[in-house]
Order: sequence, then C-alpha cells, then structure tokens
Amino acid sequence: MDSASGPDPGEAGPSSKGSTEAAAPPPSRYESQKRRDWNTFLQYLKNHKPPLTLARCSGAHVIEFLKYLDQFGKTKVHVSECPHFGQPSPPAPCACPSKQAWGSLDALIGRLRAAYEEHGGKSDSNPFGAKAVRIYLRDVRESQAKARGIPYEKKKRKRPSSSAPDRGAGGDDGDGSGAGGGELTVG
Ligand SMILES: [Zn+2]
Repeated sequence: MDSASGPDPGEAGPSSKGSTEAAAPPPSRYESQKRRDWNTFLQYLKNHKPPLTLARCSGAHVIEFLKYLDQFGKTKVHVSECPHFGQPSPPAPCACPSKQAWGSLDALIGRLRAAYEEHGGKSDSNPFGAKAVRIYLRDVRESQAKARGIPYEKKKRKRPSSSAPDRGAGGDDGDGSGAGGGELTVG
C-alpha cells in the first residue's frame, strides 16, 4: 500500500507495539491523541526529503515539523500590516494566514515528548525537549499574543512536564476561532 497523506488511525501497526494492553481500559483521549500525533510525526519523517530517521531527528527538525503543521491550522494570525493586528475579535475578514494556535503546538510537543520516551528514546536526547523548540514555542506564543491581542499571562498555568492527563487538550486557550485546541487536523 502506498502512503497516502492522511494519517491512518494506527490500528494494526505491526511495528508499533508499545504497551501491553490486553485487558487494559480503553485509552484516554490524551493517550489516543498522543498515539495519533506520534504516527503523524513518523509519517512526516518518512515523507521527509531527504528521508529522516528518528535517531537523527533534532530540535531543528521538530521546529520544521511544527512549521509544516501551520498549513493545517485554523487560527488566524494577523500580520503586523493588517488593520486587525492586535484585535482579539476583528470586525471583518482579512487575508492573513491561519496557523496552529500556540496552545495546540505546546500541547502537541508535550505529547510527542512523552511518546518519544515511551518508544525508547532517551530523555536527554529528546528532540522535543530541545531548547530550540522551547524558544520557538515561546516566540510563537508571543507573536500570536501580539497579533491577536490576547494577553497570555492570564492563563499561565503550571504543568508537570511528564504526566499531563487529559487537561482539556489546550481547547481552553481562549481563542474564539474554534480552532479545536489540541486536536491537530492533518490531511
Ligand atoms: Zn489580518
């Protein structure tokens, strides 16, 4: 079978047996989202030119992946020339690009970071935990806050880096555009 662009639900993945879930309860929303994200990332690596293996994946590649995902984003991010720049709810449509909301990317990185280690990756070489990725996310947050007039300070929240159970998957990031929060829509 050829690899169509859509991520497949991941059933019958011969190479991806991780946990022993014979009689385990059905995976939580977080768990299944994590699995989907992981498959999406592996698919991305497979389609990467030149081909990329997980072992050679760096923070820079992760950032590349996040930028690639922007094309599927639904969060309008105004360019600084746009008259709506800095307005949380613009009165009229504009031609600014849509991107992945920062909250979605942040949640995604958290899931992929966990998935990487669940699949045997070492935490000190975890590309999803790379400093460059953190800096990139911070920049995205700041620029989106500016462009969309959202004070991100109001929702500062602590989160344990590893075990983040179903925490609303970022859907609460106050963006009125119905971006669907942590759910990434690809393909
Ligand atoms: Zn605009």
